[in-house]
Amino acid sequence: MRKKKGLFDRYDGEKTLDLVGMINCSGCPTIAAPEKILKRVGALVDYGIDALHFSYCMTALCPFLKKYEKTILETYPDLTIVHGTHRPGDKTVFRKKVKELLCPTVAVPQDMNDVIQKKFRSK
Ligand code: SF4
Repeated sequence: MRKKKGLFDRYDGEKTLDLVGMINCSGCPTIAAPEKILKRVGALVDYGIDALHFSYCMTALCPFLKKYEKTILETYPDLTIVHGTHRPGDKTVFRKKVKELLCPTVAVPQDMNDVIQKKFRSK
C-alpha cells in the first residue's frame, strides 16, 4: 500500500496513503444477514475512509462478496470498494493451496490425540 503497488496503484497521484484500519469478516451465515458487516465498516467510515479494499483471500474464497458489496454500498453509497489489494494470482491455484492447508494430503497433520495415543512422530 505504501509503495502503491498492486491494486493500490490506482492512488498513483496521491502523495501518501493512510491505512485507517483493517477489519475481518464478521462470519457466516452471511446469506442470512449480510448487514452484520455494517457495524465494522461503519467504524472505518466514522474515521473518514475514502475506499475499502476487500482482501485478496476474500475475493478468491468468499462466495458472498457481491452480497457484502451491495449491502455496504446501500448504506455507504459514496464509499469506493476495491476488489483486492496486491496483484491477484490465479484464484484456482490459490484455492487448491488453501484446500491443501485445510485438508492436507501431502503431509499427515498430527494433533493432541496422536500425543496421547503415543502415535506422535517427531525427528
Ligand atoms: S464465507 Fe465469506 S462471509 Fe462467510 S465467513 Fe467466510 S469470508 Fe465471511
